[in-house]
Formats: sequence, structure tokens, C-alpha cells
Amino acid sequence: MNKEQTKLAEKILKLKKEKKALLLAHNYQRPEIQETADYVADSIGLCRRAQQEEETRLLVFSTVDFMAESAVILNPDKKVLIPDKNALCPMAAMLPAEDVKLARRKHRDAAVVLYVNTLAEAKAMCDVCCTSANAVQVVNSLDAKQVIFGPDCNLAWHIQQHTDKEIIPIPKRGFCYVHKLFSEGDILFAREKHPNAEVLAHPECNPEVQRLADFVGSTSQMYRHVKETPKKELIIATEIGLIDLLKRELPGKKYIPAYPEAVCSTMKLNTLEKIYLALKNEEPVVTVPKPIMKKARRAVEKMTEITGR
Ligand code: SF4
Repeated sequence: MNKEQTKLAEKILKLKKEKKALLLAHNYQRPEIQETADYVADSIGLCRRAQQEEETRLLVFSTVDFMAESAVILNPDKKVLIPDKNALCPMAAMLPAEDVKLARRKHRDAAVVLYVNTLAEAKAMCDVCCTSANAVQVVNSLDAKQVIFGPDCNLAWHIQQHTDKEIIPIPKRGFCYVHKLFSEGDILFAREKHPNAEVLAHPECNPEVQRLADFVGSTSQMYRHVKETPKKELIIATEIGLIDLLKRELPGKKYIPAYPEAVCSTMKLNTLEKIYLALKNEEPVVTVPKPIMKKARRAVEKMTEITGR
């Protein structure tokens, strides 16, 4: 952190203590935000952590819209703030609730599983949610032979490789623009330059990238894998923020970004200054209408029943 950031971080920590607030940051956040936060994790990991903090009434959720909504859904008794209300995930916006309804009508016998990377209204329309870490387990636990899945078509492809069920992606080509950036050429090039490295890719990456990887998993699974593997060099195909986290928490290994420009610019709209202002003014507040919250919560809890977490 530079001098200015350190000063701002100190002000945040002081105010946070006074207000008994909790600062939660996603794995893809700016390094200075990760360093200031109480916890850094994936979206559901952050929501669960907040649930354990009974004393806290104020959550500053340094993430994007759908993640902050999940925090509201799982922590209805707490006030959830998002430092920048324009931090909107384009992939979540690709699946409006109406499209889930239409797909259900078209495939009446199919179950509907939605990635947690959807807005609350869409979540409220599904049978069960899943994360990229447990998507295969959730889908395989269901009785239905057909499963409607959205919004990420690459994660849908990943699930299809590990199930006998028919996966019906909605929308047909929903994608995360950050993970879409990685190409087959990037992986081949990185492998050639670092022949002893292991390649880790996120299941939101294109199928050809997933095929070339030694390990495919969510950010939390990648983190665990890095901890366990004896390999000292790792080529990472996910948003660049995870590398900041790995360097800080698991030093002593070499982390090579498969594509150094893989930056989620919406996530990075959040800054230390905006966090300070959000804490000070207790806004912008994230809200989810009660009927939607109830249904969306049921879908997330169903996931917990299946996976035990
Ligand atoms: S990395 Fe992709 S899925 Fe995650 S918030 Fe950014 S655009 Fe959305």
C-alpha cells in the first residue's frame, strides 16, 4: 500500500471498530482492499462468514451486485452496504428472471439449477443454487434427467463433462467476460515458457482452456490446491486478484498469470475511498424485496442441504 492508502485504511479500521462493522472483500478485489478487509473469500464464503458474526450489524460488502444481494438474503438482520453501487456483474445481468420462467415452461420435467452468480429475482425462480465448486455435486444429487442451468455456458459445459444428465444452458451463450479472455494460445504459450508449472483454470473459462488445464476449480478450490500441491510454479487462469491473495497468503511459490489483463473492472470499481464513505454515511444500502428474499434463500439453503456447507 502507498502512504495515502495506508492513511485511508487506518481511518477505515477506526470507523469500522466504532460502528462494529465487518469489511468483507471478494478474492478478485484490489490488493489494498484485500489487505484492509476482515475476510477475503468467494461470495458464498463471505456470506457464511458474516452469518457467524452475531455482534455485527453492518456489513461492507466489497464485491458486485449479486454477491451483495446474497449477503442480504443470508443475513436479513444486518445492513449490507456496497461501496460502489455501479459494481454490476454483466454475467448476472444476462439471465433475467423472466427467462428462467420461460425455460421452465419449455422444459416442464427439467430441474432448474442456477449459479449463485445471478440476481436475487432469478435465484428466486430456481429449485436450487450452486457455486462453481459444488455445481457438479448439486446437479448429480437431483432426480431429474434434464437440468436447466445458467447463466454461464462454460460452467454448464464443465458440469456436462461430469454428469449423465442433459444440461440445458440458459441463456445459450451466457459468459463471464473476464474468464472468456483466456485462450488456448495463452495456456500453450505459458506452458512453453514455464514447462515445470501446473496450470489451474476456473470452470468459467472456455472448454479448450479447461481441457488444457491440470486442475479446474473455483477460486476456493484453487487456493486449497495451491496449498497442497508440491509444485512451486503455477499458471493461474482466473481474475488477477486471486494472484494477489495467493502471493500474500501462500508465499514461496511463483504465480504466473495466464493472461495478465484478466481484470474484472466492475469489481474493481470499489476503492478504499468509497469504502470509507460507505462506512461513514452507511450507504448505498443493498435491499432485496421480502418475497424474493424468501424464495431465493430457500434455493441457497437447498444447496447447503445437498452439500452440507
Ligand atoms: S469476474 Fe466475471 S462473473 Fe465475476 S463479477 Fe466479474 S464479470 Fe461477474
